Amino acid sequence: MRRFHIVACAAAAFVLLSCSACKKIPAGTESTSGQQPETGSQLADITYQVNVYSFADFDGDGWGDFRGIIEHLDYFKSLGVSALWLSPVQSAMSYHGYDVIDYSALNPRFGTEEDFQELIDRAGEQGIDIYMDYVLNHSGSGNPWFQQACADPGSKYRDYYVFSENPSADVAAGKVDNYAGAASPGMGAWYALSDTAGRLHFKWDWNARTMTVTASEEAAQASNPGATKWLYYGDGKLAGLYETSSGIFEITVDFSSSWGFLLRTSTTSWDNGTKWGGNGTALTLGTPYTVNNSSAKDIPFSGGVSYFASFDSTMPDLNYGPYTTAASSAAFKDLAASADKWINMGVNGMRLDAVLWIYQKQVDANVAFLTAWYDHCNATYKARGGTGDFFMVGEAWTDTPPEMAPYFKALPSNFDFHFWWNLKDAINSGQGAYFADKVIYSRDLFKAQRAGFIDSIKLSNHDENRAAEDLGRSLEKEKLAAAVLLTSPGKPFIYQGEELGYWGKKDNGDEFIRTPIKWSRSGGIMLESLGGKVDKEMLSPEISVEAQTEDPASLLNVYRKFAGARNSYKALAGGEIASILSSNRAVALWTMSCDGQTVLVAHNFSGNVASITLSGYSVDNLLVSNGVATGKGSSLTLGAYASAVFAQ
Ligand code: MG
Repeated sequence: MRRFHIVACAAAAFVLLSCSACKKIPAGTESTSGQQPETGSQLADITYQVNVYSFADFDGDGWGDFRGIIEHLDYFKSLGVSALWLSPVQSAMSYHGYDVIDYSALNPRFGTEEDFQELIDRAGEQGIDIYMDYVLNHSGSGNPWFQQACADPGSKYRDYYVFSENPSADVAAGKVDNYAGAASPGMGAWYALSDTAGRLHFKWDWNARTMTVTASEEAAQASNPGATKWLYYGDGKLAGLYETSSGIFEITVDFSSSWGFLLRTSTTSWDNGTKWGGNGTALTLGTPYTVNNSSAKDIPFSGGVSYFASFDSTMPDLNYGPYTTAASSAAFKDLAASADKWINMGVNGMRLDAVLWIYQKQVDANVAFLTAWYDHCNATYKARGGTGDFFMVGEAWTDTPPEMAPYFKALPSNFDFHFWWNLKDAINSGQGAYFADKVIYSRDLFKAQRAGFIDSIKLSNHDENRAAEDLGRSLEKEKLAAAVLLTSPGKPFIYQGEELGYWGKKDNGDEFIRTPIKWSRSGGIMLESLGGKVDKEMLSPEISVEAQTEDPASLLNVYRKFAGARNSYKALAGGEIASILSSNRAVALWTMSCDGQTVLVAHNFSGNVASITLSGYSVDNLLVSNGVATGKGSSLTLGAYASAVFAQ
């Protein structure tokens, strides 16, 4: 099966086009019908992010499935796609699959192992690789490993998770391997194995910023209807506190909660500021506990056994022991055995979920762990006879590129969230002139860590606002963003629905950023997997694949056109970027060069016509464009939000 990744010109040993062929557009590239060029296809290794549960439903049960993906392999071909990142396909608790209950079994809603094998094989025949999403930070709480670990302290699975009878003391003593020496977890909380229950008195000293909880013999009180401060606990219970003296808020309740409690100063907002909580440590009855409203975490109770979870109580963190010996831990070995099964079936890559949190943002520990994981998977892949190296991309979701760069020590690729953040800011401010410099800044940081790094670039994904949403639902801006993504260096990922212009805000619920594909004007939409949480107004007939395929000017056809160009010109697909300072701040200019081939890339990030002169570059040989792009010699005029690529 074909297997290569373009990281830089030097790695492009698979020259499919001669330089002379690169100077003209192969038949089909200018077509907006979705036809692939005859030659040079898949140069770019464009990947499509599939939400398996909502992509295509073959058997009509309202859930996407493997056969639905098989049925639409031609759709990926039309987008020039050569790999699919599948959302987690293993047996799991929830629709999205990030709470796995059996790493070696598939979610039966998606199909059988035979179906999955057929997907791998049929995709492979078309030059499309399958990447699995692997969740190593945590399992689902319904995983039999966790169930047995909770039920029996003597179970061997007790070591698979992070348990403690006194988390604060154990963390301080360095006994919690998962923290890798960190004083606090950065994210997450300890959850009591059994509910804390009983009549408790809560006293919030507003001025001292402390909460004191004591066991109580007093009668339980009803919620104060005139409250300005609230106690939040259990399964969505809310109790209004009484101000008993200036700055002292109290209540006695019959308390029951598996996770502890939080405090609130609003019943409608959950933002930091109105949410008050702890720092991740447990509260001891009778001892004042410091609360804060800047990074408020659940306040669990000490006593009894607790387990640690970075995300929520249904996703207990897995425990690999000290990071220096993680690969010899039982949990690592079991997960590695499951990975071997899928790799031996023909899986060619992985996306790793939440890699920062495996050792609580401790970079050296995470890098050591991820190196061991990658080496294991790559060895299995090579033993299978895989070509080149196994592909692996980490969700190293950091605030800045320098924080992300070290993860390239462990993994060949990481998701470049900053690419999209920089791009949307540049488009929304109408300033393209500095965009290429920001791309180069990140690439230089990554290259310093790994010469053959693969920068996985993207617009939005399944955890972010839709790109269209952040671009004000402007179709012109969405087309520009698509053209920039597909003319930038790296490995572009297209998130399901971005190519159709789907919008949706994460704050409205994750389901609304994971919407099913509307395949035809008149066809229905699968509703079961997302519990009916679908924006039916958005899913009009005209946003369908059928309608956009017929419209030469559609967003879908802009994706197809630029993907076709990327797959036809190796300089675009695998060239190195050099920035050109633009005399017009609205215009982004760069070149991409590879093996003696150079293309000039120009994008107008503003809604105004932009005219520029490019000394030393020619705009006579247009390769691909969107919007109005006219020019001669070194003079170029770009219409609003227009994009163009020229041979040099
Ligand atoms: Mg189905």
